[in-house]
Amino acid sequence: MSRSIQAIRGMHDITPEQTPLWQWLEDRVRDVVRAYGYREIRLPLVEKTELFKRSIGEVTDIVEKEMYTFEDRNGDNLTLRPEGTAGCVRAGIENGLLHNQIQRLWYAGPMFRHERPQKGRYRQFHQIGVETFGMAGPDIEAELILMTRRFWSVIGLKHVRLEINTLGTAEERAAYRSELVEYFLRSPEALDEDSRRRLHSNPLRVLDSKNPDLQSLIDAAPRLTQYLGDESQRHFQRLKQLLDAAGVDYSVNTRLVRGLDYYCHTVFEWVTDQLGAQGTVCAGGRYDGLVEQLGGRPTAAAGFAMGLERLVALLQEDAAPQPDFAPHAYLVMVGERAEREGLLLVERLRDANDRLRIQTGCGGGSFKSQIKRADRSGAQVAIILGDAELDTGSVGFKRLRESSEQEDVLLSALPERLLQLLQ
Ligand code: ATP
Ligand code: MG
Repeated sequence: MSRSIQAIRGMHDITPEQTPLWQWLEDRVRDVVRAYGYREIRLPLVEKTELFKRSIGEVTDIVEKEMYTFEDRNGDNLTLRPEGTAGCVRAGIENGLLHNQIQRLWYAGPMFRHERPQKGRYRQFHQIGVETFGMAGPDIEAELILMTRRFWSVIGLKHVRLEINTLGTAEERAAYRSELVEYFLRSPEALDEDSRRRLHSNPLRVLDSKNPDLQSLIDAAPRLTQYLGDESQRHFQRLKQLLDAAGVDYSVNTRLVRGLDYYCHTVFEWVTDQLGAQGTVCAGGRYDGLVEQLGGRPTAAAGFAMGLERLVALLQEDAAPQPDFAPHAYLVMVGERAEREGLLLVERLRDANDRLRIQTGCGGGSFKSQIKRADRSGAQVAIILGDAELDTGSVGFKRLRESSEQEDVLLSALPERLLQLLQ
């Protein structure tokens, strides 16, 4: 036997034991986004590298060190998408979805970042993202937050809390930036290498640093709030009023700046204390400048993305109810005649009701070994077909989850008996 090949570090299989929970979570989220009138968009996993450089920003963790970038056979520089917003905006412009239109879009799928793998942080991970275009006010931001609150209640997630902040406009941030640079330059020796490099290119990102040695310096730094103009203050005030009116609990975290360059005004994160350092399960905000930056007309935009691995981990911790995809029935087929007739029988049963889940004992084996497989499949009943049953036009019907005798059930009565299992 040759040595087996392993998956790539930080990229995981989602095994059949785990997929029911994933499917259940994805279905619930889909129900909610549909209820708010959002429409799905499906985007390529690969885009031109330029797209991410121009949108996410050159001086960000993602673009500096996390992207899977390669040259394809034509010599084009391509990147596996590290997030969905850039591709969504690109597609919106390219397909003419954004101009003079209000759009509510969502997407789901894998994202790729070359990070250090650890609990809640992987190199291939999954997001469901929502993006809105053409709405400039805090009302849509409140809608996005209310939608996320509804997700948590629908999936039974507790222990998440909302943090919000405002980043103001690009001009306001520019004034703040120079003040911030001056502040940090007063203690250059306290900065780490990353921060020193960012100080001039993207100083707000220093505030986002996860280096614990920098925390006290960051805590004492000037706050953006002091640089906000009336318009920005009003925008944020109004959002808070909308959230208050809807009974949404939140705290204002003035250090919340988000890692990506394109945000303005409102940013928000849903965080939990239950996943260690990887505590953000959903993050988003407004990004009015991005459409124009990617070659479209100026368009207001806001959205969020949530990390499914982290939600799944939380659901497992909260011992959420597991969805049940076990078969209702398992067909045991003993003998060649039974094999032939059995496959036809289950086709007829499936024709009768497409919600019935029936597994067959394909692969054969003795009656005993098939009953064992039936039991392991999680099925509620075994349907037993052998020569004797075929001769009398009946099947054996055995409940597997309770101790009871095997019954003979006429083929004509079988569909009715199986439908009772659906109730
Ligand atoms: P973090 O601060 O944890 O690195 P981020 O700011 O890089 O997060 P976003 O780009 O805003 O994250 O992505 C939105 C969400 O996607 C995150 O809140 C998180 O739930 C999830 N996420 C991001 N990166 C990863 C990853 N490497 N593995 C698993 N989930 C991730
Ligand atoms: Mg990150």
